[in-house]
Amino acid sequence: MAEKIFNGIGASPGIVIGRAYLLDRRKVVVAEQQRISDVSIKDEVVRFKKAVDQSKAQLDDVRKRFTKDLGKSHRYILDTHIMLLEDKMLVDGTIRRIKDEKLRSESALSETVAAIVRKFDAMEDEYLRERKHDVEQVADRVLRNLVGRRHESLADIRDEAVIIAHDLAPSDTLLMRKEKVLGFATDVGSRTSHTAIVARSAGIPAAVGLERITSTVKTGDVVILDGNHGTVIVDPDETTFLDYLRRQQRYKYFEQELDKLRDLPAQTLDGHRIQLQGNIELAEEVAAVAVHGGTGIGLYRTEFLFLNRDHLPTEEQHYQAYRDVVERAAPHEVVIRTLDVGGDKVGLPGQYEQEPNPALGLRAIRFCLQNRDVFRAQLRGICRASAHGRIKILYPMIACLPELLEIKRLMEDVQEELRREGVPQAERIEIGVMIEIPSAALTADLLAPEVDFFSIGTNDLIQYTLAIDRTNEHVAFMYEPLEPAVLRLLQRVSLAAHEGKVGLAMCGEMAGDPLYAAILLGLGFQHLSMNVAAIPWVKRVIRSVRMQDAVELADLVMRQPTAALARRAAESFMQERFPDVMAEI
Ligand code: PEP
Ligand code: MG
Repeated sequence: MAEKIFNGIGASPGIVIGRAYLLDRRKVVVAEQQRISDVSIKDEVVRFKKAVDQSKAQLDDVRKRFTKDLGKSHRYILDTHIMLLEDKMLVDGTIRRIKDEKLRSESALSETVAAIVRKFDAMEDEYLRERKHDVEQVADRVLRNLVGRRHESLADIRDEAVIIAHDLAPSDTLLMRKEKVLGFATDVGSRTSHTAIVARSAGIPAAVGLERITSTVKTGDVVILDGNHGTVIVDPDETTFLDYLRRQQRYKYFEQELDKLRDLPAQTLDGHRIQLQGNIELAEEVAAVAVHGGTGIGLYRTEFLFLNRDHLPTEEQHYQAYRDVVERAAPHEVVIRTLDVGGDKVGLPGQYEQEPNPALGLRAIRFCLQNRDVFRAQLRGICRASAHGRIKILYPMIACLPELLEIKRLMEDVQEELRREGVPQAERIEIGVMIEIPSAALTADLLAPEVDFFSIGTNDLIQYTLAIDRTNEHVAFMYEPLEPAVLRLLQRVSLAAHEGKVGLAMCGEMAGDPLYAAILLGLGFQHLSMNVAAIPWVKRVIRSVRMQDAVELADLVMRQPTAALARRAAESFMQERFPDVMAEI
């Protein structure tokens, strides 16, 4: 039989070869609009409520059985799913449809979920958009209970296997025992889905977004899973099999070699030291940063705290979450980024207006300045947590100086208030701004006197500089960190940072690509923050170059008139120095 290749998204790195285990997470298909008669309405509501209660009991059982092994954030994911089973939009919305539209529970639930998903789909922020999967996963469990389909548990797997499923809920991933689950591959999902986050922190290779893999694979098939590139090969032929066996061995060997760098500093051959840090969303990811040889958290995205809740997080909840992260990261620092939600706030509790152009709308700091109570609660939580470890604060989406001054006044106000109340906090908290809008990059010299550091968010900076929607696949090919316009902005910010004597960091995806490491070093970056798996690769490059060479490479790349030529220059430098790294990326 000919091999079949599926290309998706690499969600958690590593290469595994093994037998497939097809987990039945097929969506329960609901024939549209199944009607019921007036007399059955009452019974139908009871039937639906029973399925909801059954689902709650199942999740509760998972929580009880694994409560000791689960970290706080993982428990939080389970809690989120249990909470969704009490959610007004989902549960009451379905009951309303049963009653008003006389729909069978399955149809009523499917329509309610479709309406919620449409709202999520309209969101600009990828992370928030992905939360729709939580709703879908919870609804799928209820549907299974309605139609009486068994919910197989990953805890029951006997032999080592690569799990193949339509989708996996975080409750599935939590039950994966690393010794049995070699890796997993799913039809749907993205890098920022909960499942992917949990896989990365557990070190389980994974590929997601493979679209139709479950319709091809059968339990027992031989599969190759490449979590680095998001590829799955089913029934590989002999050449492919041997090729991947070699790649797997080389990758393992290389990982072991990289592991030796873990406790060594990210220092060039001529003694220039920089900090390599991790980007995280959950407290559980902190440990993985140290395991990969990072020193602290360079970007803690706090959006997670705001999602799928009935109420906005209280000051106390902010405080507890940040304190937890900061204590885990000690003795290293944690850079906490304040709320960065997109222009469409459906993911937040309460009513927020839909916007025609969310990427250019009331996003991040703009939202916070117009919703002061929300912002103050977060700032107070951060200040209180600063009494327990090394915290820096980072403001996203700053466009101009007056905006920054306004935030600083607000922050000083909060600090003064806490002082008056006698609440412990750090004497001083360093502040940074994300440079991710071209106007901020061009006026970095004006911002510098007001901050302790800059952190460049290339994901947005590239989007806004080249006018390409970062979520639109039709223009994704133009998404290029080595565009002369982008490089010139980076250089300009670096100059402003050095002249203004403020720190220079990067926390966008560009920071975690080893191809760019020497260029960024040459441009003067002192902190690079990235997904944890990238840390050893970047460290390897940093530890093998001289500053002078990095500066010359940066100069050469800066002089190229096109991104293609700049890329060629970077690649030939890397190919010459690091053929082994280049073979793996
Ligand atoms: C960025 O824009 O580069 C960044 C790090 O922030 P986010 O991806 O969360 O917008
Ligand atoms: Mg950003």
